[in-house]
Amino acid sequence: MSEILEIEEFRNLAQAALAQIEAAFADHDSTSAIIALDQSRMRQYTRNGSLEQQTIGSAKERLIWERRRLHAALERMRHGQFGICCYCEDSIPVERLRADVATPFCSPCQYGIDARATII
Ligand SMILES: [Zn+2]
Repeated sequence: MSEILEIEEFRNLAQAALAQIEAAFADHDSTSAIIALDQSRMRQYTRNGSLEQQTIGSAKERLIWERRRLHAALERMRHGQFGICCYCEDSIPVERLRADVATPFCSPCQYGIDARATII
């Protein structure tokens, strides 16, 4: 088992993603930096691949939300709960964590949550 090494890999991923977000916010041309970063990250999340019209407001909101998710993921690493679904407490597959280090849920729970969010 290389548990410690794996956590280290994900900690690095999360910190690198956080650094990118902080850099975009700190950029003096932050509007284009934020939109560019948001668009590159959106590709991981949009299922149909169609990018909606970007506005600086929604790009910023998404990155702020992403920053919160990343901090939460780092917090779970500190408490030894990283990689455990926050809903059903099953373990989240490593491939899923590699695709989105900040994900707090396993796929079945995420689908359930997305489905409920669509209804609301
Ligand atoms: Zn779950």
